[in-house]
Amino acid sequence: MTTSPVALPLSSGCSDCAAYQRAEKAASAEYDYSKATDCRVLLARHRKSSECSARGSS
Ligand SMILES: [Zn+2]
Repeated sequence: MTTSPVALPLSSGCSDCAAYQRAEKAASAEYDYSKATDCRVLLARHRKSSECSARGSS
């Protein structure tokens, strides 16, 4: 099993946010920090867009 030891609270039910956060976590776990940074950038961009159902919360 490769589940993460800590259950992270997911962002306000937005599945896209959760996907980006999981991708960032996975990249960090592989020491792929450039990929993790990409995920954070994509997450931030997504959260500012109208696609994000958790927009404005946080
Ligand atoms: Zn979102």
